[in-house]
Amino acid sequence: MLTSIKNRSVIVTGGSKGIGKGIATVFAAQGAQVMIAARGEADGEAAAEAMRSAGGRVEFCACDVSDWDSVRKMMDHTVERFGGLHVVCANAGAFPQTKMVDMDPTEWDQVMATNLRSAFLCVKASIPHFEKAGGGRIVLTSSITGPVTGYPGWAHYGASKAGQLGFLKTACMELARYKVTINAVMPGNIYTEGLQDLGQEYLDTMAASIPLKRLGDVADIGHAALFFASDEAGYITGQTIIVDGGQIIPESLEAIQEI
Ligand code: NAP
Repeated sequence: MLTSIKNRSVIVTGGSKGIGKGIATVFAAQGAQVMIAARGEADGEAAAEAMRSAGGRVEFCACDVSDWDSVRKMMDHTVERFGGLHVVCANAGAFPQTKMVDMDPTEWDQVMATNLRSAFLCVKASIPHFEKAGGGRIVLTSSITGPVTGYPGWAHYGASKAGQLGFLKTACMELARYKVTINAVMPGNIYTEGLQDLGQEYLDTMAASIPLKRLGDVADIGHAALFFASDEAGYITGQTIIVDGGQIIPESLEAIQEI
């Protein structure tokens, strides 16, 4: 059994929906105090309320993760509410699908700001709080798309997710002196609100290309994040774990049809 993270103070960005909501639910079920951070107040409050109804200690704080002041205020607010900070799950992200020929350069910048700049801002803002706490854990939500695979329409997204892993390597070294570990979960296709927007045909085709023949559940990512946040994972830093039902393994269409 992993050491309990009961009572620890945990921030989950993008915790109002999808994977973030799954991560927040898993941590809340372990007795952690969880701050959900996202832009949309209605969704955020509803997610926090649902987790409170299930017995969790969960609050919502409005935050735009691409904005430095907003991230700093959200972290300060969390420390004020929960009395400290122990874990940051930098998960919020966006994945508009646009081929480069149609992509406005501002869309590239927005995706980079939401997915990559945000990782830097969340790490930077957490350092003074972790220093005070004598250590901490950071878990990034990257992706298989970019670091491992490619998909037409996601050049910006893939670059941002691969960028997170480049950032991870140096961040783990700079954070070591504060006794902070940083690792990344790399999800495959996980069934979320954001993925539903891509349509049923996308979801069906994707499930057929995964050896385990299903999309992932948000809790699958929550449990991987929980492991990285545990005391038992204290000697692991700068590392990644792919959680994808075996999606990146098949060598060809024939290989997946053999199953
Ligand atoms: P989702 O269902 O669309 O949820 C995205 C969450 O991020 C929402 O809570 C959203 O809330 C928040 N968010 C977006 N932009 C934000 C901003 N600027 N500031 C603060 N919060 C923001 O997405 P998801 O599928 O759960 O994806 C979550 C993460 O997993 C992303 O980093 C994504 O790249 C990664 N991922 C997902 C999959 C997948 O299959 N679903 C696969 C690999 C990686 P607001 O819009 O209200 O701010």
